[in-house]
Amino acid sequence: MSPRLVRLTFGGPDLESLTVEHPAASVRLLLPYPGTQELIVPSWNGNEFLLPDGRRPTIRTFTPRRVNPETFELELDIVIHGGGVASEWAQTAEPGDPAAISGPGRGYAIDRDAPAFFLGGDETAIPAISQILKALSADRPVQVHIEVAHPDARIALPDHPRLTAEWYDLPPHASSGDTLFAAVRAADLEPGVRVWVAGEAAAVQRIRRHLFEDRGLPRSRASVRGYWKHGRRGNGDDA
Ligand SMILES: Cc1cc2nc3c(=O)[nH]c(=O)nc-3n(C[C@H](O)[C@H](O)[C@H](O)COP(=O)(O)OP(=O)(O)OC[C@H]3O[C@@H](n4cnc5c(N)ncnc54)[C@H](O)[C@@H]3O)c2cc1C
Repeated sequence: MSPRLVRLTFGGPDLESLTVEHPAASVRLLLPYPGTQELIVPSWNGNEFLLPDGRRPTIRTFTPRRVNPETFELELDIVIHGGGVASEWAQTAEPGDPAAISGPGRGYAIDRDAPAFFLGGDETAIPAISQILKALSADRPVQVHIEVAHPDARIALPDHPRLTAEWYDLPPHASSGDTLFAAVRAADLEPGVRVWVAGEAAAVQRIRRHLFEDRGLPRSRASVRGYWKHGRRGNGDDA
């Protein structure tokens, strides 16, 4: 595993009921409030989850990379970036540390009739892209474009006989998604191609506009999601 992507295994008997049907689904990870060790389950006030003292709980969204219903285990790959609560927790987590999982959220339903696929994203999308790749038919061409802020975030992708994979190093002062956007703009998109992209919210918004407005790609052929938002805690779509 890469030092920028930490793989953690979560266990517990309740994971028996976690069934993930499609690739690129999501789960929500509840962590102890920063600076504490105790996991307090928040309650829903009709609008948001809150801790008993009114503070917001630490809940973040991740891709359920692998679920093993026999051992009641779930694996998450968590990106190590500067200053996030989950990112910091992942770097120092020890066996037995408490955390809770809820979900799953909807994944990506692959259109089996699609002639080709384009998958793009940043580090946070690597687990989802890997899962989609594994689920794609071997006879469909698939291009993968991944932007990494640190070269050591690169990990081996699953094999696919018709895969073309490109990795892009984000230059030090560039905005997240700049090289991904350039890759989408330069891409040769086959007629009928299905597009799946996830990354920083503003970057994927540019990508959406380019695909739908400049290229006229039908919205039904694309899934483009903000996975995090620059300068804001939580994920980009607030989903
Ligand atoms: C459906 C879905 C699936 C996801 N799957 C994964 C996954 O498998 N693995 C994964 O690591 N993330 C995944 N994410 C993204 C993850 O939820 C966010 O990156 C989240 O903000 C991380 O929480 P944090 O506590 O580390 O940082 P936060 O406390 O949320 O944010 C603190 C600061 O860090 C910045 N920040 C957050 N994420 C990043 C980043 N990746 N790079 C640089 N700066 C960042 C924020 O803009 C903010 O300024 C997914 C999101 C969604 C919606």
